[in-house]
Amino acid sequence: MNAFDPGKFEEEAQERWTHAFESNPSKLEKCYLTVAYPYPSGAMHVGHGRTYIVPDVIARFWRMRGKQVLYPMAFHVTGAPVIGISKRIAKNDPQTIHLYRDLYKVPQNVLEEFTDPLTIVRHFASEYQRVMTACGISIDWRRKFTTVDPTYSKFIEWQWKHLFEAGHVIKGAHPVRYCTVDDNPVGDHDLLEGDNAEVIKFTLVMFQHGDAFIPTATLRPETIYGVTNIWVNPNVTYVRALVDGSAWIISQEAAEKLALQDHTVEVQEEIAGRDLIDKSVSHPLCGKVPILPADFVDPDMASGLVMSVPAHAPFDYIALRDLQRAGKYTQIKPVPLIKVEGYGEIPAQDAVDKAGITHQMDSRMDALTQEIYSAEFSKGKLFDRYGGKPVRVARDDIAALMIGKFASEIMYEFDTRPVVCRCGNRVKVKILHDQWFLKYSDPAWKKQVSNHLGDMALVPPEVRLEFDRTVDWLKDWACTRRVGLGTRFPWDTTQLIEPLSDSTIYMAYYTIAHKIRDIDPRLLTPEVFDYIFLGKESIELPEKKKLEAMRKEFLYWYPYNFRFSAKDLISNHLTFQLFHHVTIFPKDKLPKGMVVFGMGLLNGAKMSSSKGNVFLLEDAVSDFGADTVRMFLMGSAEPWQDFDWRNELVISTKKQIERLFNTVLESKDADGEPHDIDRWLISRLQSHIERTTEALTNFQTRQALQEAYFGIDSDLKWYRRRLAENSDGSRELHTLCSVWIRLLAPFIPFTGEHLWKELAGEGLVSFAPWPVANKKLINTRIELAEELISRTVEDIESIRKLIQMTPKSITISLAPVWKHEIFLLIAKSNDRNTVIKEIMKDDAMRKRGREATDAAKQCTTLIHRLPPHVVEPLVREQINEKAVFEAAKIFLEKEFGVPVHITDAESSEHAKAATALPFKPAIIIE
Ligand SMILES: [Zn+2]
Repeated sequence: MNAFDPGKFEEEAQERWTHAFESNPSKLEKCYLTVAYPYPSGAMHVGHGRTYIVPDVIARFWRMRGKQVLYPMAFHVTGAPVIGISKRIAKNDPQTIHLYRDLYKVPQNVLEEFTDPLTIVRHFASEYQRVMTACGISIDWRRKFTTVDPTYSKFIEWQWKHLFEAGHVIKGAHPVRYCTVDDNPVGDHDLLEGDNAEVIKFTLVMFQHGDAFIPTATLRPETIYGVTNIWVNPNVTYVRALVDGSAWIISQEAAEKLALQDHTVEVQEEIAGRDLIDKSVSHPLCGKVPILPADFVDPDMASGLVMSVPAHAPFDYIALRDLQRAGKYTQIKPVPLIKVEGYGEIPAQDAVDKAGITHQMDSRMDALTQEIYSAEFSKGKLFDRYGGKPVRVARDDIAALMIGKFASEIMYEFDTRPVVCRCGNRVKVKILHDQWFLKYSDPAWKKQVSNHLGDMALVPPEVRLEFDRTVDWLKDWACTRRVGLGTRFPWDTTQLIEPLSDSTIYMAYYTIAHKIRDIDPRLLTPEVFDYIFLGKESIELPEKKKLEAMRKEFLYWYPYNFRFSAKDLISNHLTFQLFHHVTIFPKDKLPKGMVVFGMGLLNGAKMSSSKGNVFLLEDAVSDFGADTVRMFLMGSAEPWQDFDWRNELVISTKKQIERLFNTVLESKDADGEPHDIDRWLISRLQSHIERTTEALTNFQTRQALQEAYFGIDSDLKWYRRRLAENSDGSRELHTLCSVWIRLLAPFIPFTGEHLWKELAGEGLVSFAPWPVANKKLINTRIELAEELISRTVEDIESIRKLIQMTPKSITISLAPVWKHEIFLLIAKSNDRNTVIKEIMKDDAMRKRGREATDAAKQCTTLIHRLPPHVVEPLVREQINEKAVFEAAKIFLEKEFGVPVHITDAESSEHAKAATALPFKPAIIIE
């Protein structure tokens, strides 16, 4: 008994696939697909599953289309996260232990060894390989490596030599995101929260208060002339601290932050915020102003105190107005200082009033603040008594004046908060000295990348804008770390190259990874790589034969055709790799395309390992079978859309595969003679082949499954319905099954291999030729006839439901010739509005009068409703409706269980017959 047993299919196929996907240069055209290699610090979840299955489906598709396909995989183990994990496990941190023991199911004896970070990555790397294999991902595992292999480090050193020589590696002092617990700069991958936060530069305006300064942080120093007060939060405890020897009053948080930004900070005492209220401060540029209370002042924002400019800042305006409505501080008036087109004398008041905002908590306040900020920056001018300069000039001038004369300092802070490290600590901005950077801010380098981006295929096309923006906005990147795993930085070996900087050109390394292993790493000088990748000859190259073989591999495979990755990597990895490629490789070896993925959701919520909201891929495979997991992930959304994993929906996918399995087994040996309905089935099949092929060429996995599975499945249902009684179908079904299995093989390769064997197909279905549509088998006449019948059947069914009586007979009444003429004229016409007038110019039609204009209107509506794939052929090829229905009479009578009459509407006495239209006969149920 051949039962549906996915587990068995998986076992059978795995055995036959050993070494099958190892790919070598050949005479065939190559197709090289790569996906961002994983950082193996935990178990794979279904979101990871999609990341590797999409390229696999595409790889399998192109393999069947006769290309030499390379799909390699490696493991990125560079960086600090795994070190933090091992430390937390060593400390028996309950949350970490829970994650690894209960969620990732690491056996106790293995977990005990996780105090060594390398053990963690090795364990999960082998888990990844095992689970990817279980999912049927067709990887050439010979090329696997990790980023701490000595050979890989040699490659990275070579890469950096070129970056350095091109002037892209620089040393300097820069503000960076920093974790004081890890004592390390923090990359995007090291963050739990706040990966969109940018470091921005504030000016501290130094107000004098007794013998101390109260610094307020601002992005708009020019507004000092309009300051009416400063704000302090009465519920916060501030500190008095000696900063570089002078006394400042700031928040506790600010004291810690300033200490990371080149200041010596010594906290002396605490000061309650409420004790500062109603005291006063002064500044040479605005004179003496009072200190007022405001709950909105955030101690974690820069210095923890802010100046108030109610004429130009909506928040300040409303806060002051609220106090004044309670009868306090009524003597304070907003002081305008900037003239800006489109606003009244006091822009903040103007904007708040226009928007109808009544309180501080209104959600539109941020947008309104931004709006005034932009308007004043782009079009505003200071009043003449303040110098009369445009805001964009005055801002920098006044900041410079304050720093030069009035003790102001720069302070760096994030634009959004919180920013949280993976270790749980709040990330701060630190100024690093002697820090190495990649100079992504270099306009010439940016230009090179922009130029190349223009030549690349980007999928979906919308992401182009985001890439352009990233290139434009990228700033210098701190490229080394003190702590972690990875390659030593060649110009300071106490430092390591950080993870986003050693993972940019490894796609080239894959081409040689399985061969370079045979060479002693000590022999791998930069000259060796210059030869392999750039073809530069030099004397005394070692192991020349081996190097030649590697050069051949590189030349065959490179550049890669498509790189797949998630959309959150556009702002770093996907763009970084372009910067590095344009520096190192010649034009003909630059990347050709990228496919960017959407996010994974689990029951509607974002998947996140750190938050425990994940479903493990391995559990999914053992619960549902690998093919079900694959087909669900590919069919529920296109790769660039977000997908949502829901177990209840996955179950129905499993049933669909089972139905396919049963259908194929039932149909493959049918041996009846082919009839018109068989020709219809095979004709339809050609368009399914064509559309599946087109969809997969465009990476549309969902669309491809719609055609390849649901399209054919629904044809088969109709086909079975239309078969004569006691017929199992014709031998054409064998052809259909063979095509069907091959179209689905990239999605469900395990079931595919099993069924392919059942069909006595040659070799593995994974390498079987992809079906090609045969235009000669397309029979428009038969397709139109079936379309007419199925539409009429649907009409009869809906009428029957409506009238709710037991019918005794059904009459199908066909439209007369003159209506066909009208139909045709309208369908052919470009202008469907004037065509009715044209028709009515004809004598015969005019004689019909109202009847003809009505028919013309009805035909217009009908043509509008019919899909183009029906209307277009109808114009070319008239069908004989009478013959079609006569031939289907037996079928219709069987379907409805009553006699069916086919009549001409013109000879019918039934009033309803007059409504008959071409392709839509009148139906009379009696
Ligand atoms: Zn940390």
